[in-house]
Amino acid sequence: MPVSLRIGITCGEIIETSPIEMSSLVPNVHRGRWGALLFGTFMRDPVKMRTLLLAFIFVSSSAFGQQGSAVSANDALARLMHGNRRYARHKEQHPDESLARRKELIGGQHPFAVILGCADSRVPPELLFDQGLGDLFVIRVAGNIVDDIVLGSIEYAVEHLGTKLIMVLGHENCGAVSAAVAGGSAPGHVKALVAAIEPSVVLENASTPEDRIHNCVVANARRVAREIRESEPVLKEAVERNGLRVVAADYALVTGNVTLLDTLR
Ligand SMILES: [Zn+2]
Repeated sequence: MPVSLRIGITCGEIIETSPIEMSSLVPNVHRGRWGALLFGTFMRDPVKMRTLLLAFIFVSSSAFGQQGSAVSANDALARLMHGNRRYARHKEQHPDESLARRKELIGGQHPFAVILGCADSRVPPELLFDQGLGDLFVIRVAGNIVDDIVLGSIEYAVEHLGTKLIMVLGHENCGAVSAAVAGGSAPGHVKALVAAIEPSVVLENASTPEDRIHNCVVANARRVAREIRESEPVLKEAVERNGLRVVAADYALVTGNVTLLDTLR
């Protein structure tokens, strides 16, 4: 009897399949004579087939261990902050850069965090957090601002890769934020960039020029994090129901330290 099931694969993607197609998903089970007999028995019984399938999914999930969807928001944040501590102290481990890691990632990715950071050449997330290939889903744009294209990228990571943590990472001496604080008319397309940061200029209220820029960096990261958190329908629902967490942070060029700006989800 044909049975159709919806199967959640470890990378978070959903596929529709039948028992015949399932056999190709369980290559090791029907390898060898005993395996073939066992698998044949299961194939004839839809209930046993479901049981076998659930066992397969469980084993697959376990095999991925600390990857992507298996990593909670809090664990992901701890992993980022530990990595940043190593970087700031020049104790980097440079994880996940081996040839084996490269090969492991050919079949798919399971990044444990999304980083929305600035395009500034001094703030590459993989280095600041001492992470490697397949660890971070990185989106970089001057001023770490958000628009529909950026939201689409974030939604892809959350919905299809199972990532539970989003960090908006501002940084000291950000040129894009400085331009917005300076005001006046920006040339060419920089105008659009400055316009996107301007709402954050209004939010800061420091007295000295230096503080104005820093406070605007902080206000901007917080505001963008809030916009992501409240983005409907996908991200807002993921925050409320699926354990997604969005945090804002600030990177100091001098010390190499990343500081969390709030502890709200
Ligand atoms: Zn910047």
